[in-house]
Amino acid sequence: MTIAAIQELLAPTSTRLIAVSKTHGNEKILNLYDQGQRDFGENKVQELVDKQEQLPKDIRWHFIGHLQTNKVKYIAPFIDLIHSVDSQKILKEINKRALQQKRIIDVLLQFKIAEEDSKYGLTKEEGLSIAAAASSYVGIRITGVMGMATFTDNKVQVRQEFQRLKSIFDELKTTHFSNEDTFREISMGMSGDYPIAIEEGSTMVRVGSLLFGNRNY
Ligand SMILES: *Cc1c(COP(=O)(O)O)cnc(C)c1O
Repeated sequence: MTIAAIQELLAPTSTRLIAVSKTHGNEKILNLYDQGQRDFGENKVQELVDKQEQLPKDIRWHFIGHLQTNKVKYIAPFIDLIHSVDSQKILKEINKRALQQKRIIDVLLQFKIAEEDSKYGLTKEEGLSIAAAASSYVGIRITGVMGMATFTDNKVQVRQEFQRLKSIFDELKTTHFSNEDTFREISMGMSGDYPIAIEEGSTMVRVGSLLFGNRNY
């Protein structure tokens, strides 16, 4: 699918497209860049750091993978949004590195909405307790939530999982962020399920293979 076709689908919804460029080379990224795309997502720190050094500086980089505490320092100087905060510990480290950089880093809380055990993510209760402590982290702004649905053809199940993420977002919003209009992002939807995600209130879809083709690991 072309980026223009996806942008056309997204246009009436105000959903932002994050082009997930992991494993793909700079040439392919520049090709989308030349068509106006500015938001790109990566899930490996070293790969992201290399690309950030080599590619245009007005690209907005999104970190979407599991983040280890000892690697936060490498992306803290430039990262635009970390989608994958899945513990208090990582939040603390991001806060520390943000303060060192004299930045405020935007993050999303990643919730586990899928059935599979392998997916990282917070339970709703863990998310609520992190949100309760959020104001003590002055180097961080929690701007929303992220989740990945189960990898399945069962559209009913996928829809229910996205609805669950939306309802967690709503609860966090009422309980902890009702005065903050910066808490507004719901990052959900990938190549296989982004149309459902948009119907269920996604504000950011993370699309990789549909734009770039299959990944060779
Ligand atoms: C790889 C990845 C995507 C993109 O997946 P596609 O199926 O290629 O669109 C989205 N989100 C996360 C967290 C990923 O790791």
